[in-house]
Amino acid sequence: MEQSTRRHFLKDFGLGAAAFSAAGSAPVDARQMPGEPVPGATRESAASTLMSIAAHPGDAFFAMGAPVAQHVHNGGRGVFLSLSLGEKGSATIPPEQYGPMQRDASERAAKMLGAQTAFLSYPDGEVPFKDESCFAVCDLIREFKPAVVVTHWRGSWHKDHRNCYRIVNDAIFYAGLPAIVRKLSAHNVNELYFAENWEDAKDFRADTYLDVTPVCERWLEASSAFPMWRGETGFRYNDYYRSMAIANGCLAQAGRAVALMSPPDQLVRHVHSL
Ligand SMILES: [Zn+2]
Repeated sequence: MEQSTRRHFLKDFGLGAAAFSAAGSAPVDARQMPGEPVPGATRESAASTLMSIAAHPGDAFFAMGAPVAQHVHNGGRGVFLSLSLGEKGSATIPPEQYGPMQRDASERAAKMLGAQTAFLSYPDGEVPFKDESCFAVCDLIREFKPAVVVTHWRGSWHKDHRNCYRIVNDAIFYAGLPAIVRKLSAHNVNELYFAENWEDAKDFRADTYLDVTPVCERWLEASSAFPMWRGETGFRYNDYYRSMAIANGCLAQAGRAVALMSPPDQLVRHVHSL
């Protein structure tokens, strides 16, 4: 079972502690299983912010909402940023009506989870990858100061999702550079994760499992604020995400879990001995 021992099982500590298991900022204890948090390590999520950054509100809550909810449960702050309102997602409701419905659902769902919302106003299907959008996200990263960001994996058939991946990577780079002078001062994001999403499945390889048992039902209930949750647009999000939480819970040896993927450099470990 070499494959499973390489995965990170994050149970009580949340994503903020992944620095201890993935980046190896603390000495490795001989009694510690690979990928487990260092015993006695500070629960970083207690005062930090986790920010989901998605192309559309549904992605922010369905694919990325459980880590946000778990982070808030652990005592941290949660922020849902959507680059568009996903206003073209309904075949029957016109965009000028559907956009405000999506925004309203986001605000109700975020309230249920004790998190904040933020929106950019790029048109659905036309989220642009350019300096202006990267700097807009950079400015919001500097404003909310997340320790952890969760976003789309690049292996998506959806153009907005691919652009969101690229925007977030550049925005994190810009946000951390003091020489990039903006209204707010520089902020370093400690960790970046990519969320499991049926639309972003190409080459997605989970390496981190987050135990979300305490918040799973609340997250699913919050997601039901969205009109599309029960399959109105052709995909049964409710069945998919509930099933995945159960399946990932089995893999993580937890009740319910979500699977995440790390950038390769985040998995590099620095150890004093093997
Ligand atoms: Zn989407």
